[in-house]
Amino acid sequence: MEYRQFGDTFLVRIDRGEEIVASLTALCEKEKIILAQVDALGAVDHAVVCLYDVASKTFFRKEFNEPMEISSLCGTVTQKDGKPYLHLHATLCDTGLIAHGGHVNELRVSATCEMAVRLIAGEVGRAHDDATGLNLFRFS
Ligand code: ZN
Repeated sequence: MEYRQFGDTFLVRIDRGEEIVASLTALCEKEKIILAQVDALGAVDHAVVCLYDVASKTFFRKEFNEPMEISSLCGTVTQKDGKPYLHLHATLCDTGLIAHGGHVNELRVSATCEMAVRLIAGEVGRAHDDATGLNLFRFS
């Protein structure tokens, strides 16, 4: 991973073999990023994405081990228990250009990942919501 900061934006290159969630977490820890908006594109060869079913409060998980384009990745960086809390979703295209997507658990870069992390001046935490079973935005 290599990155530069331009104003309120970090431009990040995540390299072949690196995992995107771990790389972004490391960036947030190193640069003390507490609130940001994330978007990215790139290509991966391993992906784990999920769909959360609110009714059963369970995640449906799917793993891909094949060449895929990140046609879109978006999300947020907030804080939970003093640590970066990443919430990322992605749309991935397979070799038939069929889109798959969901909540991102793991994405391993095959070629490159080009990411913009835009800092937001403020602080937003996370609080568990019993109705949904999710950690929702907590505005203090
Ligand atoms: Zn999600």
